[in-house]
Amino acid sequence: MAINREWHEKHRMPKNPTKDERLQWHIEHAEHCNCREMPERLKREIQNLREIQNLKEKKI
Ligand SMILES: [Zn+2]
Repeated sequence: MAINREWHEKHRMPKNPTKDERLQWHIEHAEHCNCREMPERLKREIQNLREIQNLKEKKI
């Protein structure tokens, strides 16, 4: 497992993150670093968010 220390220095998780902040952090983290696996539950939440986003874009 490689840790991208530079990224972590610049992207600290807020002390009391909202659900959105936490999701956003993990999305960015997964793109820049793989020091730890994203929890399954978060993966599913992100999946749901993407589906909602897709629906909005299609304006169904
Ligand atoms: Zn990391």
